[in-house]
Amino acid sequence: MSIKMLPLPAEFLERVWIQRRDDQAQEVQPFVSTHGGEALRCCVRPALAGEHVALVSFSPFVRQNAFKEFGPIFMHTTPCEGPPRTPALPVDFDGSNFSFRAYSAEQVIIDATLAPGARARDAIAALLTRPEVAHVDARFAGYGCFLARFVRVPEGADGGAC
Ligand SMILES: [Zn+2]
Repeated sequence: MSIKMLPLPAEFLERVWIQRRDDQAQEVQPFVSTHGGEALRCCVRPALAGEHVALVSFSPFVRQNAFKEFGPIFMHTTPCEGPPRTPALPVDFDGSNFSFRAYSAEQVIIDATLAPGARARDAIAALLTRPEVAHVDARFAGYGCFLARFVRVPEGADGGAC
């Protein structure tokens, strides 16, 4: 199965970078990364020391229901290079563990599992095998920061699958 990691929505990037607000209408508070290592979600890599970043609130959900969550994510404070076209799986952020939550197209949770980043592909693929699952959201298991949304890529599609 081909799996695609979706980039952050363009509307969200514009909200943070242009309007300087996050998904809870809070003002973006930039800071300079002292030592680097913040897990940047705009370009899916650790920050480098000296980069201008911010911790903002993001919700990957568009439906209003009980499963709609907001989570903190680190981002650049100005437009950046974005994620790689074919992000690597497994994901590796210093050996972190992740929660993988599977949702229907109506954004109702169907199943969930915990796994280390080294097993991300297997965990995501197992959940996406179920036809009722529309997407899998990954979060850092400890801190709860949103990592990414993953979807199936139809065979033969040019989707930047990983
Ligand atoms: Zn970035």
